[in-house]
Amino acid sequence: MTLPYPDTYYARTMEETVARPALQGAVEADVIVVGGGLAGLVTALELARGGLKPVVIEARVVGWGASGRNGGIVSPAFACDGEAIAARVGDVAAKALHRLTIEGVARVKAYINDLKITGAEPISGLLNLRRFDRSDDLRAYAAEFSHDYGYDFTYLDRADIRERLVSDRYFHGLADAQAFHIHPLNYVRGLAAELERLGGRIFEASPATQAQFTGAEKRIKTAAGEARAPRLVFATGGYTDGLVPRLKRAVLPIATYMMVSEVAPDLIASAIRTREAILDDRRASDYYRVIEGGNRLLWGGRITTRAASAAGVAQQLRREMIGAYPQLAGLRTELSWSGQMGYARHLMPQVGAMAPGAWHITAFGGHGLNTTAVAGKVLAESILGESDRLALFAGFGLDWAGGALGLAAAQATYWKLQLQDWWRER
Ligand SMILES: Cc1cc2nc3c(=O)[nH]c(=O)nc-3n(C[C@H](O)[C@H](O)[C@H](O)COP(=O)(O)OP(=O)(O)OC[C@H]3O[C@@H](n4cnc5c(N)ncnc54)[C@H](O)[C@@H]3O)c2cc1C
Repeated sequence: MTLPYPDTYYARTMEETVARPALQGAVEADVIVVGGGLAGLVTALELARGGLKPVVIEARVVGWGASGRNGGIVSPAFACDGEAIAARVGDVAAKALHRLTIEGVARVKAYINDLKITGAEPISGLLNLRRFDRSDDLRAYAAEFSHDYGYDFTYLDRADIRERLVSDRYFHGLADAQAFHIHPLNYVRGLAAELERLGGRIFEASPATQAQFTGAEKRIKTAAGEARAPRLVFATGGYTDGLVPRLKRAVLPIATYMMVSEVAPDLIASAIRTREAILDDRRASDYYRVIEGGNRLLWGGRITTRAASAAGVAQQLRREMIGAYPQLAGLRTELSWSGQMGYARHLMPQVGAMAPGAWHITAFGGHGLNTTAVAGKVLAESILGESDRLALFAGFGLDWAGGALGLAAAQATYWKLQLQDWWRER
């Protein structure tokens, strides 16, 4: 059965293909969740575990958005760097927030292992690599993390890196053995199946066209139906449309790109001799990993604020790849695609209440696998009255993201970062 996913490596290789109905007529639930990406599904799943009966309304298919087409790298941190978080909410809250992101990594692993989600088995390890010759601050960063969070990185020198990667590009690095990588679409679909097993319902091909979220009874209308519940959660990520204008104004859609190679295990092994994922330390970073046991190379990077052709951007990604590994010049790119991330102006996720009984959980940017896993849990705890951890996100509200000017500023910032990266590496 072919489901209406964009043509990505993940859609071509997903494990199960159950199709779900569109919303027809009136449906009652304990809570409506709009958006069937990771933010919406984790929230709905945790609410179902807490005894509520959720209904998820998804415009396309579960995991159609960023959640089912990303790099699959699960590691701690937010898209926003720690210093900027501390500048906004102070050191103590910033550390508590970072701890959440570490919990998020463990939560993803626990979902996959506990639910026995097939085809998403975690593959351990992430190398954070530096493209210029300086290591004192890197070592200091590792020592600080070990002290503050009990989270250990292993420092890698050039020789250590060369054992894994046949490239002159990298000088120093930190290996993170707790991070891992997965097939994200199988993960999303595994969560969706568990939600249904617990009595939650998911409607696909059902774009929400009207939202009423201020009265005691919340209503979401679609072309052929209406869902009603006392609680409502918006989880529409980088695909947030005009359904709730306040949300749309708060989220900038930023596109990013991925490509996957042909099957060429020997050629790939002439360059990359590790199953660990790799992330360079550029502010505008590249990330990549071998998949299918080394048969193919998956490579991601670049952002644009205007839709660009994925095949065109893949040419830029290829230049990066061949710059790092000249021996891969003959490695054919089989497929490329793009996806939209949602970014707030403050670069942090926006998770909180919009009205009594109505919440939003969005703007996870380029670091959404671990952060959706923990933010969905934290939001569910708040809705169920189980904890006040949601207050940690209070400093990051639905600030206006600046519209077209905000997008232009984001693109300019990215170009500036690219220039700074280039300068540092000189
Ligand atoms: C190419 C790419 C690579 C990435 N790599 C990584 C990575 O390696 N590691 C990492 O941690 N993060 C990565 N990310 C980021 C991560 O994928 C996202 O932060 C995360 O998936 C966001 O989840 P979400 O549920 O908020 O949004 P989405 O997954 O985009 O889900 C939003 C859903 O809402 C639905 N929707 C929107 N409007 C409506 C409506 N009106 N009615 C009904 N449904 C609606 C959409 O159809 C969509 O399915 C990457 C992102 C991209 C695009």
